[in-house]
Amino acid sequence: MSAATTERPRNTATNEIPVERLREIVGTENVLTEREDLIPYSFDGTAAMSEMPGCVVFARTAQEVSALLTEANRLRIAIVTRGSGTGLSGGSLPAPNCIVLCTVRMDKILELDKANLTLLAEPGVTTLAVADAASAAGLFYPPDPGSMRISTIGGNVAENSGGLRGLKYGVTRNYVMGLEVILPNGELMWMGNKCVKDVAGYSLKDLFIGSEGTLGVITKVLLRLIPKPQSKKTMVATFSRMDHAAEAVSAIIAAQIIPCTLEFLDRTTIHCVEDYAKIGLPLDCEALLLMETDGHPAVVAEEAAQMEKVCRESGAKEVRVAKDDAEAAKLASARRSAFSALARLAPTTILEDATVPRSELARMIRFVEEIAKKYQLRIGTFGHMGDGNLHPTFLTDERNKAEMHRVEEAFKEIFDEAIRLGGTITGEHGIGMAKKSFLPKFAGDAQMRVMQELRRVLDPNGILNPGKMFDSKPID
Ligand SMILES: Cc1cc2nc3c(=O)[nH]c(=O)nc-3n(C[C@H](O)[C@H](O)[C@H](O)COP(=O)(O)OP(=O)(O)OC[C@H]3O[C@@H](n4cnc5c(N)ncnc54)[C@H](O)[C@@H]3O)c2cc1C
Repeated sequence: MSAATTERPRNTATNEIPVERLREIVGTENVLTEREDLIPYSFDGTAAMSEMPGCVVFARTAQEVSALLTEANRLRIAIVTRGSGTGLSGGSLPAPNCIVLCTVRMDKILELDKANLTLLAEPGVTTLAVADAASAAGLFYPPDPGSMRISTIGGNVAENSGGLRGLKYGVTRNYVMGLEVILPNGELMWMGNKCVKDVAGYSLKDLFIGSEGTLGVITKVLLRLIPKPQSKKTMVATFSRMDHAAEAVSAIIAAQIIPCTLEFLDRTTIHCVEDYAKIGLPLDCEALLLMETDGHPAVVAEEAAQMEKVCRESGAKEVRVAKDDAEAAKLASARRSAFSALARLAPTTILEDATVPRSELARMIRFVEEIAKKYQLRIGTFGHMGDGNLHPTFLTDERNKAEMHRVEEAFKEIFDEAIRLGGTITGEHGIGMAKKSFLPKFAGDAQMRVMQELRRVLDPNGILNPGKMFDSKPID
């Protein structure tokens, strides 16, 4: 965020984009050059950041991606890979006059292997389509980012996205068994396979997971699927004190229950969601926990009863257990609509994802409240409470320079506190442009140097997503 307002992504290129050559590679219908066509690609889901690309190219095959990268590398033109552009750290924000390489037309599920429980997809397949394909085969793909209806699986891998089920099932990385990647020089590299065990060489695929489009372009993803849970129960508990909700979370974990979902909404968010989605949420509370347990019916029944008991013992005002799937979906939508509901309140909504060890959650939530008062800002907080991953959401207006300055100062304090409490500056949204200026303090000199060197080895001309995560210096 702070970097966003003061710094722009850099283009390494001085050369003109060879539009005719790009048309030869992907076909005229897959190249956009008109200003009005480029505008939708000049920003992503991150507030207060935009930059015009030189053109947008839709690749349909790995061979086309390879030819595009070969050409861009030869001419030293920046390439910014883009899935659906839902990113919240400016990862697919164009570099000035760059080529945006959009993957949404690479949208085929290539194979679902029931014998090995794997699914092979092109990068532009939506997360929902992956989940639906798995479900239709009686299987389960757990990572479920709030944006899953539109986010792409390539974007999910590039950001190592989490979701509402992260607590029990982990994040995207835990499901990636293999990747096909085009390197900046145009070379195709396949990493991983369908083997459950494989320790041959460095685990390079893990380097590409979460690399935010800076090391290569992902052109195929081999995913692990798991058996579908037989049943689930959804419940909501409300609390008149934030501390009590945080205590309930700690007590649930301490009771050795790992629910698949353990999400939290604060008072501001609850009111916004109710106003937006009319779910019937109680409004006379400070915090709400959305909890879901899944698995064998007997285990689910026992865990649900235990969670209800723990919440009541921790001071819950009310615990409501969904009677059927329809009510469960309604309660879950309270959390899924949190961002959209808050976004209606102010012209600019800046969503952060400071993350702390679970034991420090109550302290971090209190700190965010103090910061809101100190800087006279409106902040609604929700998030993946079970993961310690909070989303303090600033409701502001980017035209109000004084307020934006206070927002930046507030961020600095929140990130400093997260680091002080043993946490991290991003749990799932990535560094991109938005948190670039905070990374050196968090990562330290040695990690920064190793990351810089790795990037220079893979992308010596600095053509891929320049200026993102950290500045990459092209080799002269
Ligand atoms: C309402 C809302 C809810 C969200 N909820 C969550 C959530 O619960 N959890 C979570 O983790 N995130 C969440 N996000 C953030 C975002 O949806 C994820 O980061 C998502 O994975 C981005 O996917 P995308 O296809 O939109 O990628 P983009 O935004 O287009 O790109 C994201 C990054 O990935 C790179 N990239 C994209 N495709 C490729 C590729 N094929 N090869 C190499 N690099 C590539 C881009 O260069 C960029 O750096 C949410 C966003 C919104 C707007």
